[in-house]
Amino acid sequence: MTEWHNRIGYPQLGREGTPDYRGYVVRVQGTVGGHPEKWFTYAFDQGDQHTYWIGVTDSEPEAKGVLERLIKFGWVCEVYVSVGMGHCAGEAAMVRHTYREGEPKGLRVRVLLCERHGHVFSDWERMTIPEYIRTYNGLEQDAALIGARK
Ligand SMILES: [Zn+2]
Repeated sequence: MTEWHNRIGYPQLGREGTPDYRGYVVRVQGTVGGHPEKWFTYAFDQGDQHTYWIGVTDSEPEAKGVLERLIKFGWVCEVYVSVGMGHCAGEAAMVRHTYREGEPKGLRVRVLLCERHGHVFSDWERMTIPEYIRTYNGLEQDAALIGARK
């Protein structure tokens, strides 16, 4: 199994430059100066050799967990199915979003969808996950969810 290393001042999952390298986590603010501690998580795509942002959390273990979850489960559909079932656990196949050039960020929303739920928000822009990541340089699993995934 790929392990965490901390050779260059922040934890990396796998050794950079090898096929098992998966990304890193880094603290971007400390408790000094009144800023709360924040940890950013970045994933590395071995296919196109691209590093991209996947989340921000409050601690190193949580930040590592974001990357470990992506490796273990991949991108997961975010559609809320029902009270009993919670959110869909299907493998995500696409991103639909409302991003428009020049539009304020607060108006933008996006959702990960599996093939079965691909028709949801059918009037929104559709991209493959790699297209979305290349365009916006980041994708955060469950960022838009209200309430926890079951
Ligand atoms: Zn789904």
